[in-house]
Amino acid sequence: MKSVYTRRQFVKDVTASGIALSAINAPLHVFASAKKDVVKVGMIATGLRAQSHLEEFLKRSDVEVVAMADPDKGMMADAQKLVTKYNKKAPAEYTNGNYDYKNLLKRDDIDAVLIASPWEWHIEQAIAAMQAGKMAGVEVCGAIKLQDCFDVVNVHRQTKIPVMMMENVCYRRDVMAVLNMVQKGMFGELLHLQGGYEHDLREVLFNDGKQAYDNGVEFGAKGYSEAKWRTNHYVARNAELYPTHGLGPVATMININRGNRLTALSSIATKARGLHRYIVNNPEGGADHPNAKVKFKEGDIVSTQIQTINGETILLTHDTSSPKPYNLGFRVQGTNGLWIDNHAGEPDAGLIYFEDKSEKHDEWENTKKYMDEYDHPLWKRFEKDAEGAGHGGMDFFVDNAFIECVKRNAEFPLDVYDLATWYSITPLSEKSIMEGGTLQHIPDFTNGAWQTRKPVFGLNDEM
Ligand code: NAD
Repeated sequence: MKSVYTRRQFVKDVTASGIALSAINAPLHVFASAKKDVVKVGMIATGLRAQSHLEEFLKRSDVEVVAMADPDKGMMADAQKLVTKYNKKAPAEYTNGNYDYKNLLKRDDIDAVLIASPWEWHIEQAIAAMQAGKMAGVEVCGAIKLQDCFDVVNVHRQTKIPVMMMENVCYRRDVMAVLNMVQKGMFGELLHLQGGYEHDLREVLFNDGKQAYDNGVEFGAKGYSEAKWRTNHYVARNAELYPTHGLGPVATMININRGNRLTALSSIATKARGLHRYIVNNPEGGADHPNAKVKFKEGDIVSTQIQTINGETILLTHDTSSPKPYNLGFRVQGTNGLWIDNHAGEPDAGLIYFEDKSEKHDEWENTKKYMDEYDHPLWKRFEKDAEGAGHGGMDFFVDNAFIECVKRNAEFPLDVYDLATWYSITPLSEKSIMEGGTLQHIPDFTNGAWQTRKPVFGLNDEM
């Protein structure tokens, strides 16, 4: 298959974005500012996810949260309650509508911002942060348009301000142990990887049936948290809506953007049944509920096959509208063996097999002994600090990496190129599905630098 995104096409796309072409030849990353003992943070959004980052920041003595922006005064009040719980000084509030975050960005006492807003805001806010000279940690999602991915990279090249992709699943304990085994060569040469977002979100999308489709236009007014905005994406789009939890961890294992790159994808989707069924069967819904008339575009299960320039394949699954226990469904397979995570991250529940190590030929082993022996040095070191942090502790690691890198002016282990590449899966998958599964070329957002950039993730026992 032809899989080259040419420089000519890149230049065409960049020109279309309105960004100066001279910027694309700028050096990739520069860290000029002085080292800091305390990182001054601004929160852009204070919803449920932002509050879990906020709590990690409040636990630390090397972080001061100086300001927070969110148009939802209820979420802001909940965030302030957390600040009080930790006896920290109340951050300044910016609650005057969707654009008040821009006033937060004008402050000169902020080093970095954490962006955990709805998906449609991430790129715009990350760009505004870089233009205001603030480093940004950006929560997970997929891009709304492919152009967004070029824009965020190009503004990074112009401003030289680093951006971190806050993908916490890259830090999951079993995922990091497997990464450790991959980096030791135990799987041989990697061939095929799988991951996904297999999480029954029906309650999250409807707050258990209580919110209605407002005036036949969009969800929002009666919902809480993600039911205010995430549900609308299921009405408007048929795509791999949430690629990074599945893709991020496996991308680090095959050094994407650092010696390797994604070249092309093809996506297909099942029919959309789960959300309608949920509305009709929910005691708070029913066949006459206004939500029962809504047509959802998002197929219940979206499968995306990705190819890499080094010859691996990746299969991503987005599966959030059907009844099923949570599982990200990782599989890492190489020439010498494979790992299957079939029980949602419990270290002793997956299956593993190595041709040269497993005791019996052709028989699965329980993963526990390997997970213990190859526990990642980062986890060994910070196990105690991570206790109580969200998602089984992995949220500590992603926030720790963000803060430590800002403090030391060190390169983010997951950077703006990872963000652009992983986010691009959503609009590309949308186009592929619309065209019956056609192959879509995945741009090289590093502009060729993937050939010389060295792997960093998981190779440092500090962050
Ligand atoms: P949420 O609805 O609870 O919070 C979003 C917040 O953003 C709300 O308080 C909303 O008022 C605010 N907001 C809306 N427009 C804004 C604007 N213009 N400026 C500032 N704030 C604005 O949703 P959430 O669950 O917190 O999700 C936020 C992000 O975090 C999403 O990208 C989501 O996918 C991601 N997320 C990641 C994880 C993870 O494990 N990494 C878990 C949950 C959510």
